[in-house]
Amino acid sequence: MQPTNINTTKINLLEFSRSELEKFFADLGEKSFRGTQVFKWVHQLGQTDFATMTNLSLALRQHLLDNTEVRLPEIAATLVSKDGTRKWLLKLADNNYIETVLIPEADRGTLCVSSQVGCQVNCDFCATGKLGYKRNLTLSEIIGQLWVANRELSPDKTSRHHVITNVVFMGMGEPLLNFANVVKAAEIMLDNNAYGLSKFRVTVSTCGITPEILRLKEVSKVSLAISLHASNDKLRNKLMPINKKYPIAELISAAKIYFKDEPKRAATIEYIMLDGINDSVSHAHELAKLLRGAYFKVNLIPGNFISGSSYKSSTQSTIDAFRDVLLASGINTITRKSRGSDIAAACGQLVAEKLASSV
Ligand code: SAH
Ligand code: SF4
Repeated sequence: MQPTNINTTKINLLEFSRSELEKFFADLGEKSFRGTQVFKWVHQLGQTDFATMTNLSLALRQHLLDNTEVRLPEIAATLVSKDGTRKWLLKLADNNYIETVLIPEADRGTLCVSSQVGCQVNCDFCATGKLGYKRNLTLSEIIGQLWVANRELSPDKTSRHHVITNVVFMGMGEPLLNFANVVKAAEIMLDNNAYGLSKFRVTVSTCGITPEILRLKEVSKVSLAISLHASNDKLRNKLMPINKKYPIAELISAAKIYFKDEPKRAATIEYIMLDGINDSVSHAHELAKLLRGAYFKVNLIPGNFISGSSYKSSTQSTIDAFRDVLLASGINTITRKSRGSDIAAACGQLVAEKLASSV
């Protein structure tokens, strides 16, 4: 375990994108490709020890050792669900905590990463939102979640197995309100010199910061998920106050523009099934109308609630009836299984502070 040294003055190499790392080496008077070499050691091969970086000169290795380091979030607790879902509580250098969740399936491993400490959006149904907002995560704190998870999943905790095939920005926080760092982290995830994940398998999920969706299109190839959760503005204003600023029509039109040039890709619409709130057959028809003619796929999500919440998840038969309306309208719809709820690792349950106070 790499100790988190808060007093360090050393430069953290995890704070650089590949091009920034190339510039860093060029500024040292080195060839810029040294940046890519170090980037590969750190991200692709999971090395933090400069002594192993044998394609660098001894003098350069010494310079790196004296002035830089690869500083990672520290694991404060690991929880494993009976369904195999794993949650890591990570301690950051300033003593804030975040959570990262791994959802293993037969043919893939999905890592759900956080982008902020808390969240300022305050959706009514979300435990993270109730936490309040502390700050954006830095690049090293975002990409560090993938780095640490990869290490934890390798049998000897050094070699890389790359069990993680998918990353979703569905942990704590609103990724598009931490735009620059999320874009850089996603770029590293897709880079073949680093994690080499497919653009189809790295997904930014947003509550609907419409202008940032359009900006994301210009700078990234990542997949997009929209947390819609309501079929009309009146209801969505109540569930997600952000809707007053960015109402449904504009949000849907931004999502359509996002994949305009790539007709084979579709934005995912996430829709939590809330008992008696947004789950009727007429809501389903209203939703089908909103999504008609465009390339969307819908994920229906059973609600997960921490004790004391006034919301309840819809029953299975209500979810099935809702799904059938969408399917009959030609909309590709699946019901997502809730995973890891016994360790509070399911969507909307991430409240790191609570776990931190118990470890
Ligand atoms: N802020 C982003 C990403 C993090 S939330 C967003 O809102 O999209 C990740 C997903 O979990 C979102 O779809 C969110 O709406 C959903 N979620 C929040 N609270 C939930 C709950 N109680 N039950 C199920 N899903 C929830
Ligand atoms: Fe923030 Fe997403 Fe939770 Fe809303 S659902 S409060 S945007 S983390």
